[in-house]
Amino acid sequence: MPKAISPQKSAKASAIQSEGRCVCGAVRLEIDVPAVWAWHDHSAASRHAQGCAYATYVGSWRSRFRILSGAEQVSRFEDKEAGTARSFCATCGTPLFYERARSPEMVNIPRALFATRTGREPRYHMHLHEQADWTYLGQPLSPLKGYPGVMRERPRRKVRREVGSASGVTVIPHQ
Ligand SMILES: [Zn+2]
Repeated sequence: MPKAISPQKSAKASAIQSEGRCVCGAVRLEIDVPAVWAWHDHSAASRHAQGCAYATYVGSWRSRFRILSGAEQVSRFEDKEAGTARSFCATCGTPLFYERARSPEMVNIPRALFATRTGREPRYHMHLHEQADWTYLGQPLSPLKGYPGVMRERPRRKVRREVGSASGVTVIPHQ
C-alpha cells in the first residue's frame, strides 16, 4: 500500500531519506540520500570525542539534513580554537553531528546512527598520520581458550626500539 506523502515530504529535494537516531531515541534526524560522501576519520580529536579507534562519518549538505525530533535534547560543544562544533544527545550522550567552520555548508553525521543505507560507502581515510597504534587493522585472530566469543590477536613479533644516543643505546622491548 503506498504511503501518504505529507506536504513537508513532497517539498524535499530527494525522494529517499535515511533516518538516524541516538541510543535513547530522543533525537531523530534524517538526510536526503545519497549523502555527499563518507569517510573514516582517524584524527585524535574525533577519536577522543567519540571514544573509538576512529570515527566513520557521512557528510551531508546542510540543506539536505533535518532534525526530525528532539532538537531540545541536542547539546553542542564548540571548540573555537579548532573551529569545530560537536553535537550530542543530552540524555544518552550519543554523538549526533560534527560541524566545521571551514565547510559551513556541510554537516557530518556518524555513520553508525543510520540503520539504513546512506548512498555512500566509506572508502576514504582522513588524518591517517594520527591513527592510534592500537587500532585493529584486520590482523589474524584465533579463539581465546575458555572464553567463548572472545577472539585474540596473535602475539606480535617483538620489535626492538632504540632509545638514547648511538654510543649509549638502551634497548626497550616493545610491549
Ligand atoms: Zn539520546
